[in-house]
Amino acid sequence: MRLDTLNKQIIACRKCQRLVEWREEVARVKRKAYMDWEYWGKPVPGFGDPQARVLVVGLAPGAHGSNRTGRAFTGDASGGFLYPALHRAGFANQPNAERRGDDLRLMDLYIAAVARCAPPANKPSPEELNNCQPYLVRELEILKPKVIVSLGRIAFERILRIFSIRDPALKFVHGAAYKLNTGHWLLCSYHPSQQNTLTGKLTVRMFDAIWSSARELIEKD
Ligand code: SF4
Repeated sequence: MRLDTLNKQIIACRKCQRLVEWREEVARVKRKAYMDWEYWGKPVPGFGDPQARVLVVGLAPGAHGSNRTGRAFTGDASGGFLYPALHRAGFANQPNAERRGDDLRLMDLYIAAVARCAPPANKPSPEELNNCQPYLVRELEILKPKVIVSLGRIAFERILRIFSIRDPALKFVHGAAYKLNTGHWLLCSYHPSQQNTLTGKLTVRMFDAIWSSARELIEKD
């Protein structure tokens, strides 16, 4: 299967009733600042370079970010922290991500998520994560990335679950990189949510170091 075929399947998905209702409700009601937008209001597919050796795994679309724009990390504060960092590291051609069609291109990097629909309070349930897991599995099969960057603990744990790895030595620690028995490198980063960036839990310098590590791991055995 090709990525574009997979992405069409993702966009058409209605498996999780709670999330379907929520994403569509948010798209209908909108936020005052975006009243002139026609919200995407559907699952958000993966985005990036189909030849990528780095796969980034986020959590879920932001209600007024990618649930509005239809592209991962586009149009909200998390993307406003992520894309400039990817640009500085040479993984993106520009730091800005405002809308689909804004000429943003990713090089050697692809962005996926453990849940493709915006969840209430940014919290997908375990059942919803299970429902969505096959899409991430397919992306791993198609892309065969060398490095997987988990943005947050939930993404980290989901990757280990997909590979059936139960090793207490593998702990989610910001900046830690593990060579998995599957051959992938798994690199841990705090999620660039406002909760982390505004509190200083994740700084620009800490985040830049993640993308430098990702670049080094591409070349490492
Ligand atoms: S979260 Fe995933 S499985 Fe659930 S409806 Fe959205 S795309 Fe489908």
